[in-house]
Amino acid sequence: MKLTKTDYLIWKDCAKNAWLKIHKPDIYFAEPLSAFDQGIIETGNEVDVLARELFPGGVLVSGLDASEETKKLIKSQTSVIYQPVFETALYKVICDILVWNADSKTYDLYEVKASNSGDDKKKKDELYTYDIAFQYLVLKELNVPLGRLSLVRFNSEYVRGAELDLEQLFLKEDFTEKVMKVSNMVKEEMKIAQEFLASEKEPFGPCKCVTRGRSAHCTTFSYSNPHIPDYSVHDISRIGMSKKKLEELIDSSIFLIEDVPEDFPLSEKQRNQVTATQLDKVFIKKDEINAFLKNISMPISFLDYETFAAGIPRFAGFSPFNQITFQFSLHILEEKDKEPRHAEFIFTEDKNPDEEFILALKEKLPSKGSVITWNKSFEMGRNKNLAKRNPEHKEFLENLNSRVIDLMDVFSEQHYIHPKFKGKTSIKYILPVLAPELSYKALDIQEGASASDSWNKIVKGEYSKEERLEKIEQLKTYCKLDTYAMYAIWKHLSDLV
Ligand code: SF4
Repeated sequence: MKLTKTDYLIWKDCAKNAWLKIHKPDIYFAEPLSAFDQGIIETGNEVDVLARELFPGGVLVSGLDASEETKKLIKSQTSVIYQPVFETALYKVICDILVWNADSKTYDLYEVKASNSGDDKKKKDELYTYDIAFQYLVLKELNVPLGRLSLVRFNSEYVRGAELDLEQLFLKEDFTEKVMKVSNMVKEEMKIAQEFLASEKEPFGPCKCVTRGRSAHCTTFSYSNPHIPDYSVHDISRIGMSKKKLEELIDSSIFLIEDVPEDFPLSEKQRNQVTATQLDKVFIKKDEINAFLKNISMPISFLDYETFAAGIPRFAGFSPFNQITFQFSLHILEEKDKEPRHAEFIFTEDKNPDEEFILALKEKLPSKGSVITWNKSFEMGRNKNLAKRNPEHKEFLENLNSRVIDLMDVFSEQHYIHPKFKGKTSIKYILPVLAPELSYKALDIQEGASASDSWNKIVKGEYSKEERLEKIEQLKTYCKLDTYAMYAIWKHLSDLV
């Protein structure tokens, strides 16, 4: 078995998971890739191709016998090589770009990442250093003359003009020193990982995520930990932040929330969730809900946006991964005891929707009253971005933001606790409990990442004419349910108090 760079990095993160990927792919790949993960892969591929333009005129290795093809290109000192493939007895790696340096008579290596320079930099730099070190060690074993080792990633400060400026969009960072510092360690790890993953013997027992909160678990968690129920102590709100507490529960073989002792130290919110589960009881703080509702003024606008985060900025004024705000749904309630009326907007051309989006909002959104969103930081953040790119509409967007009230607060502040919420505050958890007649499950598009993906395919012309129309309708239906769901939850709360 040849260890690839990808499997080495998975092994570094979790040896057991890497083993399952190789030896039990039916379990590792049991769940289809989410639209979100698919989007990350597609963006990565697009960025790889675009970054090649930084080093034009190269040869793309793409034949069946890619490592032989690579050998020949290296031997002939081909000036730029894209996607060269290298194999030793134990390892295999595909690099992104090699550039021949005629002065030093070495190849400079460039690893391309569809990543911003600002986010999570320390952690990402560490990961990228191991990534490049793996490549360095394989190429070194094959006696490929190597010069500088660099990372190419997005410059988060870049703002696109009319045209893309690749030299400004990408940062080239020299990682040579960083790689040298870890190369001995990585060499050892590669040997250990290769031996471990080549073994047919399955690692025994529960995996290390048994003492981590649910959000850290990968898709194979229930396979490795069949004794842990689907809703367990791992789902106690923010328990992953207090590893000691979780360890204590697991060490005492307490897996069910029902079994958490009364005197076990938990935060107030965690204790409330546990108590609601143990007593199977709903807790409603009517006074707090009443006070919350009193802050809402008529007419009420229930508002929701759909967006697409384009890694490579598509339009002037956009930076890498800025959200393109392409759709909104609005339910407007003029009088308390009437049904809300619906308004919507969707932009389906491959150009900047900002102006049309804002004008449609101006036309359809009442100029007074409260604007209800779910998880307000998202819509408010988009409004701030829109105002930055379109300062002529700043006043309108700021006014809109000043009227926003977050309906999710009722649940995150625990004015309403239901055992069936399972400690979650997403509308996807709250709606089926409070308004079971409304459901996302019957929809073709059921969550935001699929909406983004569908919109991207619409504007990229990847659908037939009929599919395109169908997808547009599905997007409208999905976004419409988001705002009607907010109305239904607001109504449920209003009827309570
Ligand atoms: S759940 Fe965690 S420890 Fe278990 S296999 Fe997945 S990543 Fe590894």
